[in-house]
Amino acid sequence: MDKKSIEKYSQRATVCSEKVYSEEMMVKFTPAEFNLKAFNCPYCGVYARQSWGWVGYTMLYNGGANASEVDDDCYVTRSSHSQKMQILNGINISVCEHCHKFSIWIKDRLMLPPNLNVDPPHEDMPASVSTIYHEAAEIVDASPRGAAALLRVALEQLTHELGCDPDNRINEKIGELVAKGVSPDVTKACDVLRVTGNNAAHPAETLLLDDNRDTAISLFQIINYIVEQTISHAKRLADMHNRLPEGVRLQIDKRNLKALPKGD
Ligand SMILES: [Zn+2]
Repeated sequence: MDKKSIEKYSQRATVCSEKVYSEEMMVKFTPAEFNLKAFNCPYCGVYARQSWGWVGYTMLYNGGANASEVDDDCYVTRSSHSQKMQILNGINISVCEHCHKFSIWIKDRLMLPPNLNVDPPHEDMPASVSTIYHEAAEIVDASPRGAAALLRVALEQLTHELGCDPDNRINEKIGELVAKGVSPDVTKACDVLRVTGNNAAHPAETLLLDDNRDTAISLFQIINYIVEQTISHAKRLADMHNRLPEGVRLQIDKRNLKALPKGD
């Protein structure tokens, strides 16, 4: 395939995947912002109300908290020996009403946890894939190309999780997914990630990306879409199937056995 054909194909596939994404699974994502009453929590990803407060400290008589007074997250020290409370000017906290975790802000900047500024990874994304997803999210502002290349690696890891042969090239793995019966839209989404991520890793190529942060951001949505289609749908169907009465399931198994081609 020559460069022009790839470009045409990729652009077509991008438009298609964006359309599918926006129509089927676009859920409004509100990034964390200073003093906002509700946003998608950077810890749990849920759109939730946030309580805001300031941060204060107390000096202890013995010069520090002892280990038993510091909780696991090191956010809170407790002591009955406290002196006057001091307020740390410019340091604020927001507390998620869903997961109750603290985010720490210096002035209007979120410091902890690091602000990913992209949709959180899909809840069904395998851990080995979401690790790479987070890596990509951390660099997307500084390097959209780097993020795109990492998301291609994430896709490759996802194909392993879906049972594709790890020795195959990524193009062949997408072919394996086709053989497994994934929908043409998912295949297109995979190819957008594959081609864009590949081009991002080659400085001579400028297809699609051109240091375009928005394009890189949409790749995060695309990999979430692939997880939704390849993992979550099947999981939900299996759950619903398992809730059918046992007798009905046995009848279904019997019917399916009958329908299978007979061996010699
Ligand atoms: Zn939360």
